[in-house]
This record gives sequence, C-alpha cells and structure tokens, in this order.
Amino acid sequence: MKLNEHYKNLQESYLFSTVAHKVNAYAAAHPSAKILRLGIGDVTLPLAPAVVAAMAAAVEEMGRKETFRGYGPEQGYPFLRESIRQYYARRGVTLAADEIFISDGAKSDLGNILDLFAAENAVLVPDPVYPVYVDTNVMAGRRILFADAAESNGFLPMPDEKVQADIVYICSPNNPTGAAYSREQLAAWVNYARRRGAVILYDAAYECFVREEGLARSIYEVEGAEECAVEFCSFSKTAGFTGTRCGYTVVPHALAGGALNKMWLRRQTTKFNGVPYIVQRGAAAVFTEEGEKQIAENLAVYRRNAARLCRCLDGLGIWYTGGKNSPYVWLRCPGFDDSWKFFDYLLEEANVVGTPGCGFGKNGQGYFRLTAFGGEDTTAEAAERLTRLLSRG
Ligand code: PLP
Repeated sequence: MKLNEHYKNLQESYLFSTVAHKVNAYAAAHPSAKILRLGIGDVTLPLAPAVVAAMAAAVEEMGRKETFRGYGPEQGYPFLRESIRQYYARRGVTLAADEIFISDGAKSDLGNILDLFAAENAVLVPDPVYPVYVDTNVMAGRRILFADAAESNGFLPMPDEKVQADIVYICSPNNPTGAAYSREQLAAWVNYARRRGAVILYDAAYECFVREEGLARSIYEVEGAEECAVEFCSFSKTAGFTGTRCGYTVVPHALAGGALNKMWLRRQTTKFNGVPYIVQRGAAAVFTEEGEKQIAENLAVYRRNAARLCRCLDGLGIWYTGGKNSPYVWLRCPGFDDSWKFFDYLLEEANVVGTPGCGFGKNGQGYFRLTAFGGEDTTAEAAERLTRLLSRG
C-alpha cells in the first residue's frame, strides 16, 4: 500500500484553531471580559419558520407507510431542482433542471468536481481566497498558480493572457475580501476561459448578498459562460443551512460538448446517495413566497450589520472592501503590517475578535476580516469599541 504523498504537501491550517486558542487563553485570564466574536463565517440566525414547517411535514411523511421514502435520486428530487431552475429564470438565466445537481453543500462539490479533471491541468486560484480550492488541488498533486488580489485591483484580479491556466477558480462575492465582480469583469474571464479551452469553477455561495446594479449573482448572466463554467451555490449563507447541509451545482450541457454534465451525473450516482428528503423539502421552502419573505428579513439583519461595520470604518478613514454586497468586511490593519499583531491588539484592547487576513493567502497579510453574521447588538457594540480604540491612535 502506498499513501497519497501529495497530502504531505498540505500546509497545516492553523487559522481558526489559533484564533480559538488565543481567544480561550484571553478569556481564561480575563474571566470578566465580554468578548465580541466577529471571526467565524457562520450564521447566527435560526432557520426560517417556513423551512422548519416544511421539514417537520417531511418528517411526518417519513413516519407513515404510505408516504415513506427510501433512497432518492442521487442528483436531487425534481421538486427542488425545478424550484432552483425557476430561481435562476427569475434572474434571466435559463437552465434545464437536469443541469442542476443537489448536494450536501458547496464545499463537498468544490472538492468532488476535481474527479472530473486530469491531474496535469494547471489551476489558477485567487489570493486571498477560501482555502478549500488550494487544499483540494494540493491533495490531487495539481500545479497551482495564483492570481494576485490587492488594493490596486480592488481585490478583484483580472485575467492575464500570459498565464496558462486550465481550471480557474472565481469566488464572487469573495470570501474573505467581500469584493464582487461586475458582469463586464466576468465577461473578461469568460473570454479568457473560452479562448484557452479552460473551465471556470465559479463559487456563488454569497450571491444572495449582491445588491448593486451591474454586479453578477451568477456567472451565467454573462453570455457564453454556459460553455466554460460550472457554478456552485449553497443554502448555507442564504438560508442558514450551515448545519442543515444543502447546496447545488450547475453543470451545463454546453460544457465540453455535454461530456462534463454526463461525467458529473455518473460520478454522483456512483459516489453519492443524495441529500435527505427532509432537508430537500426544507430547501424547497426557501423559494416559497413565505420562505423568501422570511429569509429576506434574516438577510436584512446581516446587511444592517455589514453597513454598521462599514460606517465605523468610514468614520475612522480605514481602507476596506466588501460590506455592501457581502457579509464580509475586509480592512487594511491600521498601523499594523502584521494581521496577527492587529488581531492581538483588538482582542486585548477592545475584546473584539476578527480573522487575520494572512490566513487566506500571502496577499492577505496586513488585512483583516470582520463578519456581519454576528448578532445585531454584538455588531453594534463591536463597532463602538473599534471606533473608540482606533480613533485614539
Ligand atoms: N464557498 C465559500 C466561498 C465559502 O466561504 C463557504 C463556507 O464558508 C463554502 C463555499 C462552503 O459552503 P457549504 O456550507 O455549502 O459547504
């Protein structure tokens, strides 16, 4: 037996464990401190009542002989695929229901899709970004190139014809920077991919936060994208499904002459047995009139939190991206070159926890991520403490 030696090339991710360790140590030494956590990108509001009711009804169905269901279709129940098809159609994107595959979340599919591509493909990953793209490719031994994001490009790298990539990751709105591409900018990436015969893996996990005109919520808003892009999306951030688990991936028939859709179907039917019926019923309730209204109320809370953090940084004159079309606010650490030093300063002087930007790639050094997924009171108090602390120096 030989092990997959590529695993040795993985860099240990100490980001969230180090954050937790530092926060726990501080809390132990200062038991009376009220620590405000704006670090982890997890939601805090509960599932919408319409989702809970749909799941409860599905539990009842599963408990009755006449309505019990065993194995479902691996690619998802038709009722949910159809709801998602209509969700795209309302935004002007035409998809066929069999181009939509239901999964237990975007993370699994982002990793699993790599089964479909040869190991010799070169991969282009933005820096900084969600670390899963790099790690899943390191595991497969692929060559990884980086697209540098920086203040100079608004943390939105654009294609460079000199770079020869076969698989291109785009995350918009981006985690951690909150920066979101416009349709015109995405069109440049689509052109790049089509010219090269490359595939774009487009992560739209935060699409529901996009509000500004001209910014894309789906890569299929760009003409020709169906010939070169797979899109990943999730109910995690839209509808609070981080613990419930449901997402979807769009693999158009126009990609690779239909080969990719067929291969993904084959892969899923072989290695995956579908998302629980109960969860899919809950996900479908997200698209009902009632569900949409309730979810919009939850998203409004996160948006208000983001706006609160942006106002705080505006007042302090600190450079940042995100916040407007994203639950993440990405700021330049004021007076610090090192993200961890700024982390310690905020923890010790304001008892506020964020995430050091250097944990998302080398270009994140000197930057910091705050999330809008915390409670409203927590966020407001954190903003006040930041204002008090950072206007001093
Ligand atoms: N993609 C991005 C950019 C994320 O930030 C996350 C989670 O934080 C995911 C995907 C994972 O989503 P899911 O919960 O659907 O697996």
